Order: sequence, then structure tokens, then C-alpha cells
Amino acid sequence: AAKAAGKNTVVTYDPKHREQILGRQNLITDLRRTLQGDRAAGTFEVHYQPLVELGTGLISGCEALIRWRHAERGMIRPDHFIGLAETSGLAGEIDRWVLLEALHQVARWEAEGIGSIYVSVNLGRTSMLDPALADATLEALRVTGVEPSQLHLEITEHDELPREAGALTLALLTEAGVRVSLDDFGIGYTSLDYLHRYPVRQLKLDRSITSNLQTAPSSPLLEGIVAMAKSLQVDVVAEGIETEPQRERLADLGIAYGQGYHLCRPQPAEAMTSLLREAGPARLIPGQRAEGTQ
Ligand code: C2E
Ligand code: MG
Ligand code: MG
Ligand code: MG
Repeated sequence: AAKAAGKNTVVTYDPKHREQILGRQNLITDLRRTLQGDRAAGTFEVHYQPLVELGTGLISGCEALIRWRHAERGMIRPDHFIGLAETSGLAGEIDRWVLLEALHQVARWEAEGIGSIYVSVNLGRTSMLDPALADATLEALRVTGVEPSQLHLEITEHDELPREAGALTLALLTEAGVRVSLDDFGIGYTSLDYLHRYPVRQLKLDRSITSNLQTAPSSPLLEGIVAMAKSLQVDVVAEGIETEPQRERLADLGIAYGQGYHLCRPQPAEAMTSLLREAGPARLIPGQRAEGTQ
């Protein structure tokens, strides 16, 4: 039978494949339990990475990045579980948890007189499709008392996302004062189309663009993006700045904001609080911080 089915057909049962599927299922179960607050499965944390004005070193905001502390496996980064969360129907709840947690944090910084900065929260595919997201976000702002302009929502390209997905939600939130950022800009096919679809106020240049700078003698692509952003009146943030020459070059090209390990790594809330305290009212980044998490 195997021969008749052809050389490349798998007729035998592959134990490795079975293991993978089991591993996946276990992870989904653990994710669900963590979301339900079962600490025996794990806990979520939000880490914060400063968004910095490249010319001055001023911390203008921070991005909220989820971390999963799995009870047995330790810290798991989002690239390893956000996909699972999206396909298992848990991603919407996770995004909302991060949103509320991040807004509470901004409110605490405000209350402690540490500073008034914005927080940028990532929205996944499920959130983009969630018709209740606008109401939930406005409610979270109301509960925490954070100004809508202190919330940025980062959206990114998704395959086969229906054209209208999220458009109304983001229009409503923009009207309330929330800002929309287009994340990972420059690597997808439809990034430019997203600029038309959504009320985007900020472009976040994908890390790959920043890392290519190192080798490229000139930067026609970046010059073009800067010109375009200027005429559209959107801010530009360069992601993934890992070296001082990259920071300098980006600043010279007229890119106002940046984010990256060279400026500051993502930090747990307490470390970010100390960093802001240390930075003082001027909110200047107090040198490079080598420690921290990733
Ligand atoms: P992103 O939104 O593009 O976030 C930036 C990622 O780049 C973060 O990875 C950050 O830690 C990393 N990064 C920052 N500076 C540097 C650098 O200089 N060099 C390098 N190599 N990396 C740098 P992280 O935290 O692992 O998150 C990965 C992705 O997971 C995020 O990419 C975002 O798409 C997603 N994500 C994170 N938190 C959430 C969340 O709450 N909800 C959703 N839906 N997605 C999230
Ligand atoms: Mg992001
Ligand atoms: Mg990004
Ligand atoms: Mg990215």
C-alpha cells in the first residue's frame, strides 16, 4: 500500500509529530489556566521598554510587552505563545489583560508623581476583529483615569484580515483621543494600504530596517519613508536600535523616535519605575542599562 501511495506519502505514524501536538495542547491548557489566575500553571507580567526621542534622550513613552512566567518552563517570550493564543481563542483576553494592566501602571506613575508618559499596547489579530474592543478600551481608560492620549495602540499586518476589521473600532478610539501606531512597518506587502485603512498617527519601522542600516552606504528607502511620514504628518519610531552608530544615523535621517536594546531593554514594572525616578522630571534616559530582561 505504501508503494502504491507513492514515495513521499507518509503512511507510518510519526511519534515526533504526536509529541509536538501534545506539547502544543499542554501549552494551550497552561495558557488558559494562567489566564484564569491559576498560579500553579504560571503568571503573566507586563514589561516596559522606553520609547525615546533620539535627539534628546527624552523618554516619551514605553511599549507594554507581555511575558509569561511558566511554572515549569520559566519565562516564555510572546513570539512563542501569541500565535497559540490566537488560534486557541485566548488572545483577545490576553490583549485586554495587558491593556488594563498597562493603564493601571501609567496611573500609578502619574499618582506617584513620577511622570506622565504614554504606553503603547500591542493588539493582535483577534483584537482587531473584536467588535467590543472600543467599549472595553474606553472602560479601561475610565476605570484607571488615564488620558486617552496617553494610550497608543499598536496594530500590525495580518494575512487575510478582512478589509474593514478594526476600522470602526480604531476610528471610535481615535475620536476619543487614543493614538494608533502601525507596528513592524516596512516588512509586509500591505503596510501602505494599512495607512489608508486605519487612522495611523505613528509608524514603527521594523527592526530589520534598522539592522540593514549597518551595512548600507545610503538609505533611499528610509529617506523615502521619512518624506512620506512628513507629508502624512505621522511620527516615525525606529525599532531595534542596538548600536550608537545606528542611533546617530537614524537621528541624522530625521527619525524622531527610537526603541532598542542600545537605548534601554524591556524592564519589569518595578525596574521601569526606578528608571523613571532616576531620569527625573526631564525624563532623560540615565545612560544605558545593561541589565534587565529581554
Ligand atoms: P513588537 O511589538 O514588534 O515588539 C518589539 C519586540 O522587539 C519585543 O520583543 C522587544 O523586546 C524586541 N526588541 C526591542 N528592542 C530590541 C533590540 O534592540 N533588538 C532586538 N533584537 N529586539 C528588540 P518581544 O517582547 O519578545 O515581543 C515580540 C512580539 O510579540 C512583539 O513584537 C509583539 O508583536 C508581540 N507582543 C508582545 N506583547 C504583546 C501583547 O500584549 N499582545 C500581543 N497581541 N502581542 C504582543
Ligand atoms: Mg509592538
Ligand atoms: Mg514592533
Ligand atoms: Mg517587530
